[in-house]
Amino acid sequence: MESIVVHYQEIALKGKNRPWFISRLVNNVRRATSDLDVRAVRPLAGRVEVVLGPSAGYEQVRERLSRVFGIANFGRAGRAKLDLEEISAAILRDLGEMETPSFRVSVKRADKRFPMRSPEIEREIGGRIKLAKGWKVDLDRPAMTVSVEMLATEAFYTFGKDRGPGGLPTGSSGKVACLLSGGIDSPVAAWRMMKRGCVVHLVHFHSYPFLSRASQEKVRELAQVLTRYQQRSKLFLVAFGELQRQVVLSAPAPLRVVLYRRLMVRIADRIARRHGARALVTGEVIGQVASQTLENLSIIGSATDLPILRPLVGMDKEEIVAEASRLGTFEISIEPDQDCCQLFTPKHPATRAAREAVDEAESRLPIEAMVAEAAAAALVEEFGFPTL
Ligand code: ATP
Ligand code: MG
Repeated sequence: MESIVVHYQEIALKGKNRPWFISRLVNNVRRATSDLDVRAVRPLAGRVEVVLGPSAGYEQVRERLSRVFGIANFGRAGRAKLDLEEISAAILRDLGEMETPSFRVSVKRADKRFPMRSPEIEREIGGRIKLAKGWKVDLDRPAMTVSVEMLATEAFYTFGKDRGPGGLPTGSSGKVACLLSGGIDSPVAAWRMMKRGCVVHLVHFHSYPFLSRASQEKVRELAQVLTRYQQRSKLFLVAFGELQRQVVLSAPAPLRVVLYRRLMVRIADRIARRHGARALVTGEVIGQVASQTLENLSIIGSATDLPILRPLVGMDKEEIVAEASRLGTFEISIEPDQDCCQLFTPKHPATRAAREAVDEAESRLPIEAMVAEAAAAALVEEFGFPTL
């Protein structure tokens, strides 16, 4: 079986933008398998065919496709001429010594010109398999489904499907910038936006040389894992320690966390605009910590005109942890580090920072210069998967 047939999320891809979505998906599949022996990736009447060369292992390709957003499911496929004898013979050949307690054949005609209807074709092919293998037919709960897709000039058959990751093809929803700490939440937030088709730039604030480089190492590892889902990432590293020091010198302790966050948002806004991102993303969750009350979220949000997307806002920690574990970011996130938020952080941050107090504290700081300098000095690192 030399191909993989990929099915995309039918509903999301409807409408007149469909060809554009599909070409994105095709390009993303090409890129995700660029180092494997994949001979072609081509759109094909409502599906995408991935043609495997002799040294491409299905397992390897499967692993890659399981991270390409926009894919609903996929399966290893064989092809045959549009002829029931030929299709049945090819299926039997590829089934080889395979055994199953029960099976059914399920047919879809993508091209309705084939002169038989699907149930008839199912009976014809199913009958031949039953005769040759002696298998039991079970239409309701088959242990194996042989799927046959009748296209205009040929037929494909598969013996089972793997689930894709769903979502929309990377790049189809534009760019966003995610504030990525070394914590558990923000990598999950970044991933959620990737799943919805966004290219996610990653922005990390660190307090080196006031603290160690550990948080930067951590976000690099996180960026590597996340890049497996969008294939290319930019990570911006912003030195934040000096700004925190200035805040500490001029603002009352309970306000500091909100002031740090507003500075982060402003700097991320600069970087986002410069790199074509139309929204900011954070891992904030209502009520999770003192800085994430409704009042504080609104004061933090008012530091930018860009929308702040908070894909985790209504999730419980448990749910976020489960998702982080699935993605492979959890293990990295729980490594000890020195996050910038541990630097100069008060014991009792304000849960309802008053807007006037925040304005007053900020009026004593050269906010514009601080933001411009930090944004301009940000370092960019590029990540690529499978290659840069
Ligand atoms: P996380 O697990 O994402 O660190 P958290 O529960 O620790 O979240 P906070 O520390 O309050 O929550 O941070 C809230 C959000 O602010 C984070 O999800 C992230 O988007 C952003 N953020 C916090 N610290 C940083 C940082 N050092 N660099 C970039 N973004 C940050
Ligand atoms: Mg954090």
